[in-house]
Order: sequence, then structure tokens, then C-alpha cells
Amino acid sequence: MTQIEPIHIIGGGMAGCEAAWQAANLGVPVVLHEMRPKVETFAHQTDGLAELVCSNSFRSDDDESNAVGLLHWEMRQAGGLIMSMGDRHSVPAGGALAVDRDAFSADVTAAIEAHPLITINRDEIAGLPPEDWSSVIIATGPLTSPALANALLDLTGEESLAFFDAIAPIVYAESVDLSKAWFQSRYDKGDTQEEREAYLNCPMDEATYNAFLDALLAADKTEFKEGETAGYFEACLPIEVMVERGRETLRWGPMKPVGLTNPHQPDVKPHAVVQLRKENKIGTLYNIVGFQTKMKYGAQAEVLRMIPGLENAEFARLGGIHRNTFLNSPRLLDERMRLKARPSLRFAGQVTGVEGYVESASMGLLAGRLAAYERLGVDAPLPGPTTAIGALLNHITGGANAETFQPMNVNFGLFPELTADVRRGRRGKAERKRAYTDRAKADWQSWLTSLPLGQRPAAE
Ligand SMILES: Cc1cc2nc3c(=O)[nH]c(=O)nc-3n(C[C@H](O)[C@H](O)[C@H](O)COP(=O)(O)OP(=O)(O)OC[C@H]3O[C@@H](n4cnc5c(N)ncnc54)[C@H](O)[C@@H]3O)c2cc1C
Repeated sequence: MTQIEPIHIIGGGMAGCEAAWQAANLGVPVVLHEMRPKVETFAHQTDGLAELVCSNSFRSDDDESNAVGLLHWEMRQAGGLIMSMGDRHSVPAGGALAVDRDAFSADVTAAIEAHPLITINRDEIAGLPPEDWSSVIIATGPLTSPALANALLDLTGEESLAFFDAIAPIVYAESVDLSKAWFQSRYDKGDTQEEREAYLNCPMDEATYNAFLDALLAADKTEFKEGETAGYFEACLPIEVMVERGRETLRWGPMKPVGLTNPHQPDVKPHAVVQLRKENKIGTLYNIVGFQTKMKYGAQAEVLRMIPGLENAEFARLGGIHRNTFLNSPRLLDERMRLKARPSLRFAGQVTGVEGYVESASMGLLAGRLAAYERLGVDAPLPGPTTAIGALLNHITGGANAETFQPMNVNFGLFPELTADVRRGRRGKAERKRAYTDRAKADWQSWLTSLPLGQRPAAE
């Protein structure tokens, strides 16, 4: 029998461990490279694999009406190691799945160490992987070591690898009040109707503007952690820092009121205008342009709902600025998560521009399987965008706008809209969410059963 060449996986975090587990369970040997404890990061505290660096929560476990819960469900169905260990070490947390982080990491480490097809090398890959590693998954996370990050920077170009995220809040388009907001690009620029109406505009009078500024200044903010550089770039200053520079700064920056006419009140010139721009091609999500912020989540939603038109806004994700190494995946990766410029390198986890423990693990799950199928020479279809994992894959490999790409959590705004046959008369928020999850579950199951090598059992 010919020996199967191993897949090299760099990074033994949430994505790397899941990828190793999935590939090895399909019969492909894996060498997992983890730099800790030889090389540390500012956030990791242990030498365990799959260490949770901050909160111990996998967030909502509701697979009927929450996109994160649905992601849990899909990973469980696919025999995911991270979910099975998360379930084993869950601690009470209401509707959320929280885990005992030390026991969780210890058991993920033990399962990986015990797997006959996985070898762990405790070494840093301090540059591009050698050319003779013909299949590599890079899953080095938000704190990718500088030596590897710089090598990737050389390979992909400066525009394509970021070291910070600067996330502006993202709202569900359907929750914007169109009796106050309107579609228009500044000075009606653009060749097509779509371009001329690319932005959603929310007008503010002077009193509302001043009240908004006061609320921004008073809101609770998150501080950078020790070791995290606090020198954010001039181009992506948090809005509250802009306000500290002067009360007119926002009116000269992201809230400029020029080149726009409010069709609801054509005779009244707005004092300031907040603009929202499409976040995904299907137009279900809009980001608030230039509104990256360090406001804490609770304060943030309250302050942003002061914007006329956003009083009832629902947020697919709130804003933030963090240390985070991530690729411009929509530009760089093909639909199977391989670097277009060097297809032997596949990426997984947070470095691909998903955000969160479970999102990262889920991209590891998919990357591990895709790499293994490729290694075995079998054709495997991709999961469709109606599933949670497929929706994330679709977003990072083309659904998102490459020009403005920032990391993303899973949410229903990434899924194709419900068609009448799926909706089957279901109305109201709860029923619609249920329609999304029902469709996703059916499609995930049929994807799993369509795979050439079938499903593998979860960890014992
Ligand atoms: C400070 C901080 C706080 C966070 N808090 C949360 C939170 O509360 N909730 C949440 O859901 N997400 C949080 N995140 C995001 C979180 O890191 C990711 O969701 C998740 O851990 C990413 O999984 P990953 O596998 O992509 O990366 P990681 O889990 O970070 O794993 C990457 C692994 O690669 C190793 N590595 C790096 N470079 C190399 C190299 N060159 N060679 C070999 N090994 C290497 C690292 O040591 C690490 O073990 C936080 C991130 C940071 C930085």
C-alpha cells in the first residue's frame, strides 16, 4: 500500500485541532505544529491545545433560532472534536454553552495526542512552509507569530494582510426605518441606479447631533489589553476618539452632510448624516461607515439607536478594534480556502476573517475535510450557503466586499433570503429564524450524506 503524505497543520488552536481531527478521521496522517510553549503570545496562558484566550463561552446553544447555535449543531452532526469536548465540559450558562476551559483544553489535547494518525510538533513555523509540504493548513489565528505573519505579508502584499480589525457595527437591512432613512450615494455618483443608491442615509438635526456626541463621550469604552498596541491607525480611528478631537470632527468626517438630499424632508438640510453601506452582495447587511468604535457592547447599541432611522436597529455584529491578523480572504482565497497564488496553502480559523471560537473551529472542520479529500483524490462537493458553515465559507471567499472586508461572526444576514416555499407562510421573527435553521439542517444533512467517505463518529 502506498503511504499517504501527511497534511501539515500550523497552529493548534480551535481551528487547527478541529482540522487535524477531521483529516485524521478520514484516514489522512497529520503533523500539527504548535509553537507554544516555546514561543508565547500575549493572550495565551498555557501550553494546552485549543486554549480559550478570553471568555469561556461558545455563545448561544439554541439551534432553532440562533445562527451560532445552528453552527454548534452542524459541527456536532459532522463529528466535531471541539463541540464534543465543549459538551463534555459544559458549565451552567442559561441558553449559552460555556465550558470549563482547563478541562476542555486538556481533553482536546489528550484526544489529539492519542490519535494514531496525528503527530504533534511543538515548533514555530517561522516563515513560509517548505515547498515540499504539498498540503498545508495555516490556522495560526489572530496572534499569528510575527515571523510567519511577515512572510505571509511578503507573499500576499500589504493590502491583503491586516494586523488589526477595525469593525464598524453591522445592522440587518430590514431593521432600518425607511420612513426616515433613504438610499442615495453622495452627489448621486455612479453609472448605474444601484451605484447611485449604494448608501443608506440617516439624517440628524443639530440637537440630535449634540445629544449623540454627549452620549458617545459618556459611554463605557473597552481598553486595549496589556501587550496589545494601542496605536490604532489614523485611517480607522474610533469615532469617540474623533469626537475628543473636536465636536465638528465627525461632521467633517464620516457624518458629512454634503451631497445628499433627504426625500422625506427635501427643504430641510440635515446637520449631519450617518451613512450605511452594503456589507454583503445579497444586501441583507449594512455597515455604519466609519463607525469603528471601542464602546462596550451594551453602551454601543444604546448610543447607535439614537441615530434617526436606527431606533429599532438589530445588529448582526457590534463594532470593535482588536489585535487580529487576518487575510483579505475574498481577494486571496479560492472557494476551497486555498491561496490562489499558492494552492498548496489552505487557511482556516480566525486568520481567514471569521471571528469567534466556534466560527474558527467550524472553518477548521471544513478545511480539514477539504484537505483530506484532496489528498485522497476524491471529489467532494462544498456545503451550500444555506448552511451556517457554507454561509461563512461563502462570505469569506466571495460573498463579502473585498474592499471593506473585516472579520465576521455567523449570523442570518449571511444566508440567502428565504424563498416562499421555505417560508411556507411562516411570519414573525421567531418563525422566520426557524425557517432558516430548518432549511440549513436539511441541507447540511444532505451535504454530509453526499460526501464520498461518509460521516465519522464524534470523539469517545
Ligand atoms: C485577546 C483576545 C481575546 C479574544 N476573546 C474572544 C472571546 O472571548 N470569544 C471568542 O469567541 N473569541 C475571542 N477571540 C478570538 C479568538 O482568538 C478566536 O475566536 C479563536 O481562538 C481563533 O481560533 P484559531 O484557531 O483561529 O486561533 P487560535 O485559537 O489563536 O490558535 C492559533 C494557534 O496557532 C499558534 N501559532 C501562531 N503562530 C504560529 C506559528 N508561526 N507556528 C506554530 N504555531 C503558531 C498559536 O500559539 C495558537 O495556539 C479573542 C482573541 C484575542 C486575541
